[in-house]
Amino acid sequence: IMIQKAEFVVSNTQPEKCPKPDRAEIAFIGRSNVGKSSLINRLTGVKELAKTSQKPGKTQLINHFNINDRWYLVDLPGYGFAKVSKDTKAKWEVMISGYLTGRKNLCGVFILIDSRLPPQQIDLEFLLWCGTEGIPAVLVFTKADKLSKSQVDKNVKAFLKKTEEIFEEAPDYFVTSAEKGTGKDELTAFIEELVIE
Ligand code: GDP
Repeated sequence: IMIQKAEFVVSNTQPEKCPKPDRAEIAFIGRSNVGKSSLINRLTGVKELAKTSQKPGKTQLINHFNINDRWYLVDLPGYGFAKVSKDTKAKWEVMISGYLTGRKNLCGVFILIDSRLPPQQIDLEFLLWCGTEGIPAVLVFTKADKLSKSQVDKNVKAFLKKTEEIFEEAPDYFVTSAEKGTGKDELTAFIEELVIE
């Protein structure tokens, strides 16, 4: 409802080459195949804005999108590919930690989590890392249409319970489906608030 314009700006491997940090920015990240591209496309209403189903081994890029000429939405390369080399993993870490810790206009990172799964160590580790770095993180559970509401609730609750072991305050979270559009308006409204503050 609130995104009128969404267009690709630039892809980078080096955080310092990202666009001038002259406006608010939020970033999406998550395990590969979590549904990140599908959700970005659904939120922006632009079908192939983020490329879906990227193959492991493909160049990992920081993708900037201009939203409403007012803020940036950033698509970060996913983590958790089973078959990538140590070298690729190390490069990902340098790039992602460089971007997330150095980006002055970053208002929040949205960690996408597959609502079909019980809490995954890799997601919890990433969330914990954000916490220790002081990077505000929001949870976005994806593919909620794939299970019954009670099964989704169960997985969401289990994940939130895990976060209680890490943080005093539970992170903000949204339950979404790119397929059905579930959670789109709530998530968009939340992002809008974040970027205008
Ligand atoms: P990415 O690798 O995180 O960008 O994931 P993609 O957006 O490419 O999605 C991975 C797979 O999950 C694709 O086959 C999508 O069609 C599917 N998918 C993504 N979001 C949803 C959703 O909300 N519901 C369902 N049923 N499938 C989804």
